[in-house]
Amino acid sequence: MTRRSRLCLTFLFLALISAACAELPGAEAPAADEPWFGVMLPPGLTPHALEVIADRPAAPAVVPSGEARNTELAGEAIREHLEAIVGFSVESRASREVGDGLLWGRITGFPSGNRTVEWAAEQLRAAGIADVELQELTQAEGASVWLPLSWEVRLLGDEAFGAGSRDVVLESAMPLSAGEIGPDGLTAPLVYVGTASPAELARVDVRGKVAVQKVAPQGHTVFVRSPVGPRAEELLERGALAVLTIVDLPGNLRVRDMGCGGGLCFNLGGRDGLFLESVLGEAAAAGRPDAVRARIGVTSARRGGLSSANAVAIVPGTTRPGEYVVVNAHADAWFDGAGDNGDGLAVMVGLARHFARPEMRTERSLVFVASAGHHTPGLSGPGGFVAMNPDLVEGAVLVINLEHTAQRHITPARSLHPDGHREWTMDAHEAPIVAGISNGSPLLDSLVRRGIERYGTNFVSGPNRMASGEGGSYTRAGLPVFTTMQGPPMYHTTGEVLDMVSTPGLERMARFMAFFLQEVSRAPAAEISPAR
Ligand SMILES: [Zn+2]
Repeated sequence: MTRRSRLCLTFLFLALISAACAELPGAEAPAADEPWFGVMLPPGLTPHALEVIADRPAAPAVVPSGEARNTELAGEAIREHLEAIVGFSVESRASREVGDGLLWGRITGFPSGNRTVEWAAEQLRAAGIADVELQELTQAEGASVWLPLSWEVRLLGDEAFGAGSRDVVLESAMPLSAGEIGPDGLTAPLVYVGTASPAELARVDVRGKVAVQKVAPQGHTVFVRSPVGPRAEELLERGALAVLTIVDLPGNLRVRDMGCGGGLCFNLGGRDGLFLESVLGEAAAAGRPDAVRARIGVTSARRGGLSSANAVAIVPGTTRPGEYVVVNAHADAWFDGAGDNGDGLAVMVGLARHFARPEMRTERSLVFVASAGHHTPGLSGPGGFVAMNPDLVEGAVLVINLEHTAQRHITPARSLHPDGHREWTMDAHEAPIVAGISNGSPLLDSLVRRGIERYGTNFVSGPNRMASGEGGSYTRAGLPVFTTMQGPPMYHTTGEVLDMVSTPGLERMARFMAFFLQEVSRAPAAEISPAR
């Protein structure tokens, strides 16, 4: 790096004043003798890893007296389940289950997803539950899942950008849809459009160009699906040939979220994004705003006629066996999916082991569902469960959806990478967890309050009636749904890896849920669901 300015951030802490100095790129004049205007080249993609500062341990679990003997709920035991679950994703990438192996996961209807559900069924049997079924599902006729098989976003080198400016492949690029791109792809100049707000677009002509927009998600990526998706569509309608969306998150991640209505669009990770933004800035400063060009290619396929399964296990209740509490966790995932939903499924396996013990049996029956999930159109795990188990649905008093339960919180750090990209740091505690109570039951809310006091679960304050996509089939069947859900920043990215799941956090959630299930199992139905 030859061009840097120095930024000094000053913090006042008690009576001490400390100064932390970091370097930012981009203030001096371009150096013609260095590649790409002297901007530091971006790193590649590092699968199964997340770039964050994390030297300190996770906050320990609180174990009330008498509960330590429930070792099936200990963090280390649940971590073993999680590692097995993430292993199916790792295998998906290693075996190139999808195309060239640039996309991986536990994909419903594919071996990775189906093996995860089969593994869950084995775990439920190993827990000592007699009634365990693999209930097979087939994809709805006409439905299909779109999968990108191989792709590349390549910035074309040019000696005019500085001697030795060779092509740069942006490895974090993730296609969301392929549009009308031909077999040879397209080559076009890039134009930076900021957040692509109407005010910004009023001054920019994107026709015949690849538009580059930027978003910095705060928390869960779903919160920026709008406006990002609609603005990408707007750019395509205005004549952009493709849209690259810089998703400013830690490191250089692939992000599989935020579509653009079927046109040609990709997400880029934070460090690829910073490189691209810096280069476009340098080119504009040099009076050549259209000089930076990209060649973009993607091949993809639609897959229909898939089949999968739910693993369903019933632990009979002691006094009200015809009434059910359903505990659901989806097995499918994009990429490693340690937090969406490896942690939820691992906690569910721990709970099944706990309640399968004769002395832990509950008054109502418990139904554990390792669900095929909701990512593959026409192949819904909960939809299949509701359709195939009318008696269980009829007798159900509550559905609990364990989803995204134990990821550690990450926040922007007080430091920068050498390339100027903001670093991120991992907190000791978990990311905030929403407790969604679809029917607003005061009893369930009081259990959440008691759970926070008893186990230190990091639930978000304030009532919330959210039920996720996974819970939709249950709410449509008229059932009340209790959802635990974090809104983690790494959602649907390659950064959602084992290292960011808190082992004590797994235990915190498992012990809370064991308490919650015992209480719910003996509560009057009219209090669980006051409106029923
Ligand atoms: Zn999920």
